[in-house]
Amino acid sequence: MIDLKKPSVATVPNTTAANKQQDHVTAWQQCLSLIIPAVGEQAFQTWFQPIVPIQLTDNVLVIQVPNHFFYEWLEEHYVHILKRAIVQILGLQGKLEYSIVVDQNNGKQPYTLNIPQNIQAPPAQRPLRNSMGQGVVVSGGGKELFDSNLNPRYTFSNFIEGECNRLARAAGMSVASKPGFTSFNPFLVYSGVGLGKTHLIQAIGNEIQRLHPRHQILYITSEDFIAQFVDALKLGEVRRFVGQFQKADTLIIDDVQFFAGKDKSQEQFFHIFNHLHQNGKQIIMSSDCAPKDIKGLMDRLLSRFKWGATIDLQVPDYQTRTAIVQTKLNAQGIQVSDDVVDFLAQHVTDNIRTLESVATTLALHYTIGKSALTLELAKSVVSKLCNTAEELSEKRFSVAQIQQMVAEHYYLKVSDLFSSSRKPELAVPRQIAMYLCAQFSDVSNKVIASQFGGKDQSAISHACKAVDKKMQKDETYRKLIGALKAKLSNLR
Ligand code: ADP
Ligand code: MG
Repeated sequence: MIDLKKPSVATVPNTTAANKQQDHVTAWQQCLSLIIPAVGEQAFQTWFQPIVPIQLTDNVLVIQVPNHFFYEWLEEHYVHILKRAIVQILGLQGKLEYSIVVDQNNGKQPYTLNIPQNIQAPPAQRPLRNSMGQGVVVSGGGKELFDSNLNPRYTFSNFIEGECNRLARAAGMSVASKPGFTSFNPFLVYSGVGLGKTHLIQAIGNEIQRLHPRHQILYITSEDFIAQFVDALKLGEVRRFVGQFQKADTLIIDDVQFFAGKDKSQEQFFHIFNHLHQNGKQIIMSSDCAPKDIKGLMDRLLSRFKWGATIDLQVPDYQTRTAIVQTKLNAQGIQVSDDVVDFLAQHVTDNIRTLESVATTLALHYTIGKSALTLELAKSVVSKLCNTAEELSEKRFSVAQIQQMVAEHYYLKVSDLFSSSRKPELAVPRQIAMYLCAQFSDVSNKVIASQFGGKDQSAISHACKAVDKKMQKDETYRKLIGALKAKLSNLR
């Protein structure tokens, strides 16, 4: 259970004044409240819970991490989330510094290494939201940040080539060498989840940036586009909103399927698309299915998508899966025997993201848990990460057990789940609890509804639909539901 109220301050140096201690501890706690919804519970527990805030001086927050591997992992995977949290809590001048106690293992005293966070400007994303869904205002003022928003972690060099992605990768490299000047404009890549769409389109962006440093690139997900457009509409700033996209030389839009049914956003995107295309600018998109299968997309937008190239990424074959597992483990300085690699490539077949999390979990057992990377360990990791849903579907829980688990997760009383309030801090947990009860309890929707303060059974089917819909659209939310299911599976 994550307890944000109890920071681990045991190793904070006692030379620091008491009120100063409060400052860095409070600042870090506020950062954590923004980070948890963005990373999900499992990653939070693994990568953020062990961090100890050390001091806060001149807007530089120093945090102590357990070892060098940990620091590198944070920098590689969470640098933007950390930076955004720091900027939201400390303002635009806010900076983060890592402190690592290095054990020399040769009889010499350990020494402390202080490393500033490796990023200059925060990406132009919407503010992180805390677990109550409230945005946090940047205390440094309202300066608009225009940044490519690209994640430097996604490159061609670490995008492993295989039969499944050869064509898309080659076409992407060709787009990167001459953005706007190939027949691949627009360039649309589609596939199921976790097969590398975001990686590939961001790799194109990063490669363009490397080859053409003056080229202005803008990456955004369609969900952020829609949300920012709605904000702009409310504030009467649609012109400014459109203007920032029209300034781009390359516009990258991830997950365009979420434009479905959002007519006004589509309309704006259509105009931006036309403007950019007419001016020879490059447009790159991804979608979770072929454009013709996206329901609720305007015909004229669909016809634009057909002007360029549409290429799919397929499920990786055995050889590519082997290469991916090996590369991901080697990248962390870990060698495993061929039978472990073979087992993983044979059993984790559905998507690359799952393959990656299996490799990461193994690396974690090895680096932090100091466990040997045996075939048994690999089997147990795979069964935990890949079969949670199957294991769960065989188990049944009482409504009270599920309510208790959800209430604890959100620091609520079980009776808080019975209210009919629409406030997100009550409505979100209530909906999730209803959804989990419908899936995993041993009673009918009618009985479940009666145990949520005597509601009508339609409330349960409504909650299930709402949760399903949100899971389809929001990866963080999906991870949260996954983490709650995992928690449930550990109940007995
Ligand atoms: P999608 O956008 O299709 O859901 P992602 O691009 O987010 O998938 O990929 C999921 C994870 O798998 C990412 O961490 C990504 O870096 C990794 N990945 C996907 N394809 C490859 C590949 N060909 N080589 C190396 N890593 C990959
Ligand atoms: Mg993606």
